[in-house]
Amino acid sequence: MNQETHRAFRMDNEVLAFRFTATMSDRAAAAPRERLTDPGRLTAWLQATGIGVTGASPSDLKDAVELREAIYRIGTAIATGRPPEPEDVGILNATAAAGHASAALDHDSATWRLTQKTPVRDALGILATDAIHVFGGPDRARIKNCEGTDCAGLFLDTSRGANRRWCSMNTCGNKAKKSRLAAGH
Ligand SMILES: [Zn+2]
Repeated sequence: MNQETHRAFRMDNEVLAFRFTATMSDRAAAAPRERLTDPGRLTAWLQATGIGVTGASPSDLKDAVELREAIYRIGTAIATGRPPEPEDVGILNATAAAGHASAALDHDSATWRLTQKTPVRDALGILATDAIHVFGGPDRARIKNCEGTDCAGLFLDTSRGANRRWCSMNTCGNKAKKSRLAAGH
């Protein structure tokens, strides 16, 4: 795998909070791959997902990773029919409460306005709020872990028959298809 691929973010998850959890990939592998390796990478990811933050600090990164892992653990608990850990729910709710972003309609797109004082905290609040809507909303039963080799990424199965197995057809779905072909099935 070349350096560019290694550094690229996986942006194809339609659920914002799950796109965030995908910044740690290959979660079922012996060595999961961390893509938020420094504060600049957190800034880059937030910008790539449409939240215009600049200059995340090391402590922002620490808070972001703590939130991300809480979201991942809660999602996985729900997907496997277990109750989430109260500590994780506490992190989620506290992060949502600490953010002061407001939604804004900019022509035909929904955008976010952040405060000048705590823009990264506001951004994390957006991600936590998105997760809360999914975890406590009507699609809760559609939360799944990807069956792709080593992936285990979270996704929302909105397919009609609720039979989707991969976080993305372009990546994990394709890989599974190729390895089936290679195996002669
Ligand atoms: Zn996957």
